[in-house]
Amino acid sequence: MSTSLWSMVLETEQGALADLEKPKGAAAGEEGRKHARDACVEQLEARLDWTMMVCEAIWSLAREPLGLTDERLKDRITELDLADGKLDGRKRRAPATCGACRRTVSQRFPRCVYCGSAIERDPFA
Ligand SMILES: [Zn+2]
Repeated sequence: MSTSLWSMVLETEQGALADLEKPKGAAAGEEGRKHARDACVEQLEARLDWTMMVCEAIWSLAREPLGLTDERLKDRITELDLADGKLDGRKRRAPATCGACRRTVSQRFPRCVYCGSAIERDPFA
């Protein structure tokens, strides 16, 4: 089987997200913007719920066979949180350097905003 676990998770997530209501079109005025904003927040909450469920599923599958504990997971989360120097529940990503033009670019974008070359990304950025 050539399908990775991660691609299966992503396909399942995409299927679940496709069922979510899309924001309504361009309704005019403040009410339309509020509706679109509320729909975006609702989609983000659904995506976060889904991500949390996937994390819990992976953890529940891995914990016992690998001899891991919740305490060890908490310690690792703290380590990752502290990787940017702050224990604040966030992991800030360092910017990347474009391999082609050597400019500093955000890892949020798949391509360099200056020269268009693909950016080699941290898989967790
Ligand atoms: Zn570039």
